[in-house]
Amino acid sequence: MRIDILTLFPQMFDSPFGIGIFKRAIDQNLIRVSIYNIRDYTHDKHHTVDDYPYGGGAGMVLKPEPIFEAVELIKSGIHSEQEDGVLPIILLTPQGRPFSQQIAHELSKYSNLILICGRYEGVDERVCEHLVTDEISIGDYVLSGGELAAMVVVDAVVRLLPGVLGSEASSWDESHTTGLLEYPQYTRPAVYREWSVPDVLLSGNHAQVAKWRREQAILRTLKRRPELLDKANLCLEERQLADRLRES
Ligand code: SAH
Repeated sequence: MRIDILTLFPQMFDSPFGIGIFKRAIDQNLIRVSIYNIRDYTHDKHHTVDDYPYGGGAGMVLKPEPIFEAVELIKSGIHSEQEDGVLPIILLTPQGRPFSQQIAHELSKYSNLILICGRYEGVDERVCEHLVTDEISIGDYVLSGGELAAMVVVDAVVRLLPGVLGSEASSWDESHTTGLLEYPQYTRPAVYREWSVPDVLLSGNHAQVAKWRREQAILRTLKRRPELLDKANLCLEERQLADRLRES
């Protein structure tokens, strides 16, 4: 997957892309990440990227020209590389559709993603109307820039790409993938400060472990995020268990 990110602060991406699964995915050519400084696409002497809002009010707004030019240049490069058509151009904004594991899965199917990070009061509305194809929010709060939001989106997407997590780790039974929160996890020691790991996990009985985990996932989801249970993919027996737990 090729990922192109437009920002006013390219250096913010050095650290996350330099470690862990990102670094491994880049080193193994599973992803190619390019960061573009929006300022490089200005033409005036002062490299102006923002301006006062029409109609007045506090703060500054990112100008449309450098963003359009940068995206169009990136697009022309991508189109000369391949012809599979759809190219998501995503603006990170608190006004976008709420990001979720489902959207991460949806984005992981594309071969290219372009992400635009806003700053200040945001971007000129013409960018939203005539350039971007998608607007994503990472939650109902306001950040000072889209960079952290872009990292969140890219992180959630990249770990879903084939080969990125490696064979020892898998994402299929994680929270939000099955519609349930994940069961509790334990590692050694079996007893720490007199707190023991549940016996069933030490039993070596895989069927019992799987059953316990599934029940714990249901219980935990019920306690913490009951609204998720209604949409979760449960068999009849599990649905009955959930109903019993809900009533008790
Ligand atoms: N004035 C805007 C907020 C601007 S915040 C408004 O009220 O809608 C500055 C930039 O931070 C935005 O352009 C966006 O790129 C980013 N940002 C802030 N909160 C975000 C969120 N919850 N999700 C994604 N991006 C966000």
